[in-house]
Amino acid sequence: MNLLARPRTLITQIRLGISNAFVLRERRTVLVDSGRPADVPTLTAALGRHGVRPADLSLILHTHAHWDHCGGTRQLKRWTGVPTAVHRGDADRMSRGVNGPLRPTGPVGALLRRFLDHPFPPVQPDLVFEELDLRPFGVEARVVPTPGHSAGSVTILTAEEAIVGDLLMGGYAAGKLWPHVPTLHYFAEDLSLLRTSIGKLLEYGPARVYTGHGGPLDLAAIRRRFG
Ligand SMILES: [Zn+2]
Ligand SMILES: [Zn+2]
Repeated sequence: MNLLARPRTLITQIRLGISNAFVLRERRTVLVDSGRPADVPTLTAALGRHGVRPADLSLILHTHAHWDHCGGTRQLKRWTGVPTAVHRGDADRMSRGVNGPLRPTGPVGALLRRFLDHPFPPVQPDLVFEELDLRPFGVEARVVPTPGHSAGSVTILTAEEAIVGDLLMGGYAAGKLWPHVPTLHYFAEDLSLLRTSIGKLLEYGPARVYTGHGGPLDLAAIRRRFG
């Protein structure tokens, strides 16, 4: 097989108000996360700018079910009719439109919690999974559980890159400060599980790591800080 002809899934980061959404593109397009409800106009405009038509989308996949990552999903689903997917650990909160416990990892999280704990339009997920192969959805990638930030947090792995949601953050203030410096998210439902999941990510060894806020990050920088 000619290595140059090997399929390569393209990841495009879309910066929204406080979080990032992503498109994974190959034969089809998978949208990863949908931002807050208020981010939908920005997200749909960005999809248009990147040449993604509703008919190209095969799946709306969620790194986890928090307000700032799946808040726009109900509107997008109405608009596109595309199926939605979430790990089983976060399926219940997604169908109820609530974040679940936001446990601060430090004093900033304790201060920010009341500004960030919003309900969102509930969505009944079409696909609830433990692990997921994205090839049937037209991209060479797989989804593995990396719990800790929430019970159903996942990482999406392509041949060389990863999207980790809120397993890690890039910098502070939604990536406005030091976006490429790996930091611990303000909240973790289970901090020891989160650290185990960071270890798992280091073993997978993707060259570039896309985060739900700020980023992207280099694996070497993550290893220096968390290895
Ligand atoms: Zn989150
Ligand atoms: Zn987030």
